[in-house]
Amino acid sequence: MKKKKVPPPPATAPADPRQWSEKSQGSVAATFRTHYTDCAYRCRNCRKDALFSAAEQKNVYEVKKTHIDVRRVLCEACWRDSHAVAQKIAACEARWAESKQLLSRDAAFLSAWSGLLLEHQHYGARENIAAKNMLRKLLDRVVGADAKSE
Ligand SMILES: [Zn+2]
Repeated sequence: MKKKKVPPPPATAPADPRQWSEKSQGSVAATFRTHYTDCAYRCRNCRKDALFSAAEQKNVYEVKKTHIDVRRVLCEACWRDSHAVAQKIAACEARWAESKQLLSRDAAFLSAWSGLLLEHQHYGARENIAAKNMLRKLLDRVVGADAKSE
């Protein structure tokens, strides 16, 4: 059930490199970029076609001051999901900072956190090797202790 859509012509928006972040202003692009053009891409996670529109680019680079080399790799839905996972991970880290003693023996907490890290990686987040190793060790210990006490 594939519908062929005729893509609209790519829109453009005027670029004002003086509004970019300081780092972006030092980039080569700052010397020649006069406008943004709609940029079609495929979501790295769900493989759906997505569009990084010229207007969005203007907002991202000039208002949010994102570095000019940063490209979109996720569609909007996946980006939102990925962001939600990142927030859950941050919540785990906050809980962990507060009660390491207790949580280091909490298998449910540890495996949930571990699962979130994996999920985040699927969205293209950088692997957090230190956290993954720590969680694996703690989980091994907790599960091992359970097995012995039975
Ligand atoms: Zn997607």
